Amino acid sequence: MNFKELREKMVGQQLAGRDIKDKRVLDAFLKVERHRFVGEEAQSSAYADYPLPIGANQTISQPYMVALMTQLLDLKGTEKVLEIGTGSGYQAAILAELAKTVYSIERISSLADKAQKVLNELGYKNINIKVDDGTLGWQEISPFDAIIVTAASPEIPQTLVKQLTEGGKLVLPVGGTFGQMLVLVKKQKGKIDTKEICGCVFVPLIGKYGYNK
Ligand code: SAM
Repeated sequence: MNFKELREKMVGQQLAGRDIKDKRVLDAFLKVERHRFVGEEAQSSAYADYPLPIGANQTISQPYMVALMTQLLDLKGTEKVLEIGTGSGYQAAILAELAKTVYSIERISSLADKAQKVLNELGYKNINIKVDDGTLGWQEISPFDAIIVTAASPEIPQTLVKQLTEGGKLVLPVGGTFGQMLVLVKKQKGKIDTKEICGCVFVPLIGKYGYNK
């Protein structure tokens, strides 16, 4: 299977063909080998326009959704970014291409281990993963220039807003467990400005400031 060709087609049709226009984001998607982040049985679908199972009842999000959330953060290369929901590690790899340092939290240790292994194999040195409840953020390392939550939250966790820098951005799906609104939050002069982007469907964010089990 020619994964490079499939990747180019994915970027052209699913991302650039929609509203992903940030060249740095498109280049990151051309570079990162998405098929490395799924099991062998799913590799032939790794570049398809939908989410895929990654084990432990979790998913790697649709490429377009990963790209849209990434583009909303408007990264320039100097940022310290926090991701909640490492999952396969694919989004972390994309962020690592676009920011200075990435911190990522996953609550399921088997997924964190798998993600760490593939990210090591691919040579990423600017990604730090820990197993914990990401709804608490990562206080010792905060503040972050950008925070991305890749699971559905019942509301905007104030713990995360508090861990944003002045001018920082938070992107996350907010809503019920069957469908949510993708929301972009900007922290400016101590206040938050929220913008609704589009409807989306994510697995639930489970934790102290998310959903209970
Ligand atoms: N970003 C991932 C990727 O690139 O593969 C996809 C993430 S998947 C849609 C959502 C992930 O969030 C799951 O792996 C799930 O275990 C994790 N998750 C849910 N609640 C969490 C929490 N409170 N803290 C950390 N991770 C959490």
